[in-house]
Amino acid sequence: MSKKKEQITVLGATGSIGVNTLDVIARHLDKYQVFALTAHQNLQLLKEQCLKFQPKYAVITDSQKVVLLKEALAAHNLETQVLSTIDDLNMVASHAQVDTVMAAIVGAAGLLPTLAAVKAGKKVLLANKEALVMSGSIFMQAVKEHGATLLPIDSEHNAIFQCLPEHFVSGGIQSCGIENIVLTGSGGPFLDKPLTEFTSITPDEACAHPNWDMGRKISVDSATMMNKGLELIEACWLFDVKPADIEVVLHPQSIIHSMVRYQDGSVLAQMGNPDMRTPIAHALAFPERIEVGVASLDFMQISQLTFDKPCFKRYPCLKLAIEAINQGGNMLATLNAANEVAVEAFLNKQIGFSQISAVIQQTLSQTGYAGVADLEAVLVADKAARQLAQQIMTEIQK
Ligand code: NAD
Ligand code: MG
Repeated sequence: MSKKKEQITVLGATGSIGVNTLDVIARHLDKYQVFALTAHQNLQLLKEQCLKFQPKYAVITDSQKVVLLKEALAAHNLETQVLSTIDDLNMVASHAQVDTVMAAIVGAAGLLPTLAAVKAGKKVLLANKEALVMSGSIFMQAVKEHGATLLPIDSEHNAIFQCLPEHFVSGGIQSCGIENIVLTGSGGPFLDKPLTEFTSITPDEACAHPNWDMGRKISVDSATMMNKGLELIEACWLFDVKPADIEVVLHPQSIIHSMVRYQDGSVLAQMGNPDMRTPIAHALAFPERIEVGVASLDFMQISQLTFDKPCFKRYPCLKLAIEAINQGGNMLATLNAANEVAVEAFLNKQIGFSQISAVIQQTLSQTGYAGVADLEAVLVADKAARQLAQQIMTEIQK
């Protein structure tokens, strides 16, 4: 008897992670079946994906495009049901027929559908780091309570996960003989750029990452190293470790995706070519391994692996993120929201590159610390920080 195929919802199917996920699925259609695809605005790509994978549901959250997508799919006699609201996103993330959810919406917009998948006890492949950064302990508590399986897609966290011992218990790094976690980062496109030239950086320059091809928001985050800051916070929640247990190391070649340092002097690293299909395949097939068309490392081609310490003068956003996780509470949702607002403004050429960190820093310093007991408090902190960051930007632009 043939095995039932794993039913998958891809949240954020038209993004960089979504496209890579569908590439992996397409290579293993004997194992996986697409149940639902979601996107915000990219009607053309979502239509093509629907024609190829014939999902039960397609959700397009830009309401102006719903009718167009319905017409386009009907013209091909496709039975895919087209939906549009946030409730619809939550529904396809938590549907009883779904086994696995790829959480690959960018930013805070992904929080509720990702949590819906968690609360339905799904296998959740987490790319949407912002969701975890914002809601931290509430998110992890929900994973525990609802018996969800959380597997990291972020290449660093996937690498750490692969280097942890099999008997690893969350919160128990010392008892597992671990000394610390080494979180590597390339340093982005401005690793060697003179600081005096930072004011003239354009969005296209910031999005031209030397090693990874990613969405525009995370590309800017990589250039400021806010991405590494968000990842440090993500690692604290995922593995239940303290910020002081994580060492951020610059590694411009992006070959070592992160490491775990053990008390006996061993350091385990996960390596590979920078291609997100590797962590996606790892999490999707876990604990098995599948082939996904990623070339294996050719050590004769790698001339060198180098390491350095990140400088907070070049990467002030990294420092802000470390300060936010040390404070905790509403500071994490505030950091994330202010960053989202500032990055969008930078991409729209409303503020300069160096002003991104200034907006975040001022938003954080003008926000009083408060604990966050529930999701409602997280959403309140998110909204307040967006308003404050907008006000601060208006001041800056005067
Ligand atoms: P992207 O911008 O390429 O794609 C984002 C996806 O989210 C798109 O499908 C878009 O339609 C959808 N989306 C955007 N706004 C939405 C909204 N308001 N409501 C519903 N859907 C919305 O982004 P990406 O690079 O694929 O990144 C996705 C997530 O994965 C981010 O959280 C990012 O930090 C994380 N991540 C990405 C990479 C990478 O290599 N791209 C690596 C690690 C982690
Ligand atoms: Mg990463």
